Amino acid sequence: MMDLQENLQQVEANICKACENAGRKRSDVTLIAVSKTKPIEMLQTVYDLGPRDFGENKVQEMCEKMEVLPKDIRWHMIGHLQTNKVKYIIGKTELIHSVDSLHLAKEIEKQAAKQNVTVSILVEVNIAEEESKFGIHKEETISLIRQIAALPHIQILGLMTIAPFVENPEDNRTYFRQIRQLSVDIDAQNIDNVRMDILSMGMTGDYMVAIEEGATMVRVGTGIFGERHYQK
Ligand SMILES: *Cc1c(COP(=O)(O)O)cnc(C)c1O
Repeated sequence: MMDLQENLQQVEANICKACENAGRKRSDVTLIAVSKTKPIEMLQTVYDLGPRDFGENKVQEMCEKMEVLPKDIRWHMIGHLQTNKVKYIIGKTELIHSVDSLHLAKEIEKQAAKQNVTVSILVEVNIAEEESKFGIHKEETISLIRQIAALPHIQILGLMTIAPFVENPEDNRTYFRQIRQLSVDIDAQNIDNVRMDILSMGMTGDYMVAIEEGATMVRVGTGIFGERHYQK
């Protein structure tokens, strides 16, 4: 049995160290415990240790976990979202990190309008332009944001990226810098209904570098819950 408490303490210490390196406050960074594939009991254990932000990448799994876990958990949808599943999570998520098309945004708008709620989102940018990844290209970001900004039931709060899988986290520093710069550039345009308060970047392999480069949310799965074992 893995020691979740030990893992969490280690992650917490690393976050503090990275904040210190960058002259930032610990309170500027939110830790999202990425609990995908992990059983309810493990989430409850982590919850009891303090974290209130949990990330999932599948709609059904997230909904099942929401039903049984404490109501003050803030749920983050971090995975690719199919339009036909949007209706199940509207009004239930703290933040949808993975909006990467106008088509998806329009469906979120439609469902949010039905329920008369405003949905907070991030726009996912494929900063390294990896073929295997979702997210839009850097050059398309501003134009997509301008279009989404016109949708009244959606509030854009920032950007999200999934950096490449690398052995050495330093290799991703350049990408974290690029997306941070992109968010500064977008912010400077003062688009109505668009804020650039959140930068969701950094995972188990590279969250310290991400924090040093300005991440306000890090998404840590393996570092807290251990390796994931996918079943068929
Ligand atoms: C699974 C996942 C994570 C967490 O990855 P780890 O390497 O286990 O920390 C973070 N972000 C997204 C979008 C994910 O799908």
